[in-house]
Amino acid sequence: MYRIHQIKLKPGEPKERIPAIIKKKTGAAVREWIIRRESIDARDKKNIRLVYTVDFSSDKTLKLAAAPDLSYRPVAPGKEPLKHRPIIAGFGPCGIFAALLLSQQGYRPLVLERGRAMEQRIQDVQKFWRTGQLDEESNVQFGEGGAGTFSDGKLTTGIRDPRIFHILETFVSAGAEADILYKHKPHIGTDLLRTIVVNLRQRITQLGGKIAFESKITDLILEDGTLQGVEVNGDTILPADHLILALGHSSRDTLRMLKQRNVPMEQKPFSIGVRIQHPQVWIDKAQYGDEKLAAHLGPADYKLSYHCENGRGVYTFCMCPGGQVIMASSGQGMTVTNGMSFHARNGEFANSALLVDVRTSDFPSEDVLAGVDFQEQYERKAFLNGNPPQAAWESFGEPGNAVADSLPDFAVKSIREAMPHLGKKLQRFDDPKALLTAVESRSSSPLRILRDEKMESGIKGIYPAGEGAGYAGGITSAAVDGMKAAEEIIKRFRPFEKIK
Ligand SMILES: Cc1cc2nc3c(=O)[nH]c(=O)nc-3n(C[C@H](O)[C@H](O)[C@H](O)COP(=O)(O)OP(=O)(O)OC[C@H]3O[C@@H](n4cnc5c(N)ncnc54)[C@H](O)[C@@H]3O)c2cc1C
Repeated sequence: MYRIHQIKLKPGEPKERIPAIIKKKTGAAVREWIIRRESIDARDKKNIRLVYTVDFSSDKTLKLAAAPDLSYRPVAPGKEPLKHRPIIAGFGPCGIFAALLLSQQGYRPLVLERGRAMEQRIQDVQKFWRTGQLDEESNVQFGEGGAGTFSDGKLTTGIRDPRIFHILETFVSAGAEADILYKHKPHIGTDLLRTIVVNLRQRITQLGGKIAFESKITDLILEDGTLQGVEVNGDTILPADHLILALGHSSRDTLRMLKQRNVPMEQKPFSIGVRIQHPQVWIDKAQYGDEKLAAHLGPADYKLSYHCENGRGVYTFCMCPGGQVIMASSGQGMTVTNGMSFHARNGEFANSALLVDVRTSDFPSEDVLAGVDFQEQYERKAFLNGNPPQAAWESFGEPGNAVADSLPDFAVKSIREAMPHLGKKLQRFDDPKALLTAVESRSSSPLRILRDEKMESGIKGIYPAGEGAGYAGGITSAAVDGMKAAEEIIKRFRPFEKIK
């Protein structure tokens, strides 16, 4: 197969035209072809194009680069015997992909997940959104699928890693649309994700893995700096010598327990801000020139940033076209906002996080959990200021504004300074009617659980991984990190007998 770039189609032009365009460009008839990348070039609004990278075969020998091999090659298993099943704490993207790889290779992992299984979890979350009654163990952050379940299911990531294509293929094999394999900004949507996660769980159990819901790790049993076991739900001890900590960043009681057990951790900068919402047609018009093009190109997204005079960065993050702003709390008396969308992304509104960077020098103390204290301070304010505080941008500067009152002063000043500039980059972004909701405080972890080059903590047998440990910033990068942690166990140890 050869690889060719820069194959361009007009919006609405059928993809079946691609072989003819390749023939025109190369002079060679195309036998088989597969799209590897599709992006939208909207720099010239009068001449918007879909741009493709395509792998194809031909009878002719061409002066083109060969298509790269995208297949994932598992690492070779080690020789040391395992005493116990490896344990994975958390069944979010990191835990799912660690568990899948370990079960595929015959290591029969045991996943302990504090939240509930999908069906019950969906009911718990819907009850919370309807009545405000929060279940602290089953919510938008905790339960089957982790924080990614009630999300937009964007799979874009800033990292480059050969495992990513394998992860996308795995999602497709479990029910995602095949276009995520080539879209520049792949997205699944919360509706499809819910089924996909359950399908992956079933695959893991068929391969000999085990998943226990409503099973929270409440303590670690350690001896001479080495893991001996885990305490579950405060009453059951399970012997364990290998534990992948795929906790996510909201499991604050667990983080406090890790601190008590002297698991090495350090403070980490993160971000705080608001969700901002606009009618989707404003964004389509701003990005495509003509909002009707969204029918061919999909609802438009954006990514904006501004560097303030005070040195702070203001940026948009986790933009959800055609989505909805949701309450994403996991603790009583605290309000957290985030965004979600369905696969069709056909909602009336676009939303995005609008964030300001928080430095460790902003934290109230040197304590390793001071970033968590910082988050909780503003989540409590947001709860008291309106649960969730919401206001149009036009009133953000006024005294007593509930949204601004739920943020640190530096964030309010930075957002105020940035908005007019962001409005110049994206028409109507700073429209007075743009709706702000507070507080967006969980875009990343405020601490890092330290690990060495083999991904092991200073406490032997513990492998901190994923977003909560500070090594990932979204679904795909958390999944990659989960696979890497599993590979470290595979490289060293011998699998159990494979399940036939
Ligand atoms: C509303 C929302 C929308 C989002 N949208 C996107 C998006 O579109 N694209 C994207 O890339 N990212 C998105 N994210 C972020 C993404 O979900 C996370 O980056 C990702 O889920 C992190 O994966 P993880 O496996 O590291 O942790 P998590 O997904 O947080 O999973 C951790 C799991 O561990 C469990 N757990 C915690 N402590 C314990 C314990 N002591 N014992 C047992 N289990 C425990 C938790 O219950 C949880 O299920 C979104 C997040 C939210 C909340």
